[in-house]
Amino acid sequence: MLKTVAAFDRIGEENAFAVLARAMQLAAQGRDIINLGIGQPDFRTPDFIVEAAVKALRDGHHGYTPAVGIMPLREAVAADLHKRFNVSVSPDEIMIMPGGKPTMFMTILMFGESGADILYPDPGFPIYRSMIEYTGARPVPVPIREENNFAFSAEETLKLITPQTRLLILNSPANPTGGVTPKAEVDKLVVGLERFPHVAIMSDEIYDHMVYDGETHVCLLSYPSIRDRLILLNGWSKTYAMTGWRLGYAVWPGKLYDYARKLAVNLHSCVNASAQYAGLAALTGPQDETAKMIAEFDKRRKIVVAGLNKLPGTSCATPKGAFYAFPNIKRTGWKAKALAAALLEEAGVALIGGPDFGVLGEGYVRVSYANSAENILQALERIGEFLTSRKAA
Ligand code: PLP
Repeated sequence: MLKTVAAFDRIGEENAFAVLARAMQLAAQGRDIINLGIGQPDFRTPDFIVEAAVKALRDGHHGYTPAVGIMPLREAVAADLHKRFNVSVSPDEIMIMPGGKPTMFMTILMFGESGADILYPDPGFPIYRSMIEYTGARPVPVPIREENNFAFSAEETLKLITPQTRLLILNSPANPTGGVTPKAEVDKLVVGLERFPHVAIMSDEIYDHMVYDGETHVCLLSYPSIRDRLILLNGWSKTYAMTGWRLGYAVWPGKLYDYARKLAVNLHSCVNASAQYAGLAALTGPQDETAKMIAEFDKRRKIVVAGLNKLPGTSCATPKGAFYAFPNIKRTGWKAKALAAALLEEAGVALIGGPDFGVLGEGYVRVSYANSAENILQALERIGEFLTSRKAA
């Protein structure tokens, strides 16, 4: 009998990948499936970014790079953060990472152990809780409420902090709700956090470009009072439709940078060299394809919200960010996961049950509008027919 460590019995995963696999299996059997389940842009990476990677390969960038990433890319990230948020970050605080996820993995490894508490959003990205459990730390959910437009509540978050709290995870714009925490609430949270200097903060800002209705993204780096304990998670996956390239970055404060560098050396050595050159082109090249993609998401957001609000037993708050809607389906009589499963099997629409994002996700489903307006409309029609004709299981 192999004896593995107990921590692996506690690690979770992301059910969106299981739903994607089932949707692909049904499609392979000839079923017509509309996928509103997966969290990735349905656009191609812009050509000039692809060409930059091809050129890097042709130019011979085939070897290891520094573990923290190539300097021109770290400089470009610093310049981008300065341009968009007027914050000064040294390239020596920036680390190029193989996607957004590894930053949460490393951060939670750095702070999580038995006896430690880690605060994370519920509903929220499932990997936060999975990794907290893996480390043996106690996961402490921060409720994210529909009544609060799916924003963080500063007051509720601060009340959960104890002497055992080591890390607070924030995410705005948010997956799975599309919620955006307004600046006034972030200001309040940061002022409150000044009373708790023992708490590190990881701000997951992977959807920072995707805000609508005149909202502006609030980057946590703009608050000097928490800079020495703030980890920023960001990357190229969503903004430049580059999920498969595995390219992200982190800003690490103080000694955490060296811990992260050592973890990288132990784990992946460096990020794929040609992907780093692609990332450099993305940041320094024209931004109009990203702007077009976001304008298209905004159009679909309006279609999806209007359509969801017409469905029986369903109501949907207007999300201000990311590319997700999180409709309330409590009045349909269905449990969220049962509804998601039945919609996939019987109506050919893939979406994700809210409980896959935490216990407070019950009564909601996540609808990704990273699909064409035409497919979204057809999916809404199928869901409408299903809810009208089928009794709750
Ligand atoms: N953070 C959030 C909130 C996400 O929704 C995702 C992906 O869905 C990630 C991080 C991970 O991004 P990446 O694909 O770059 O690892």
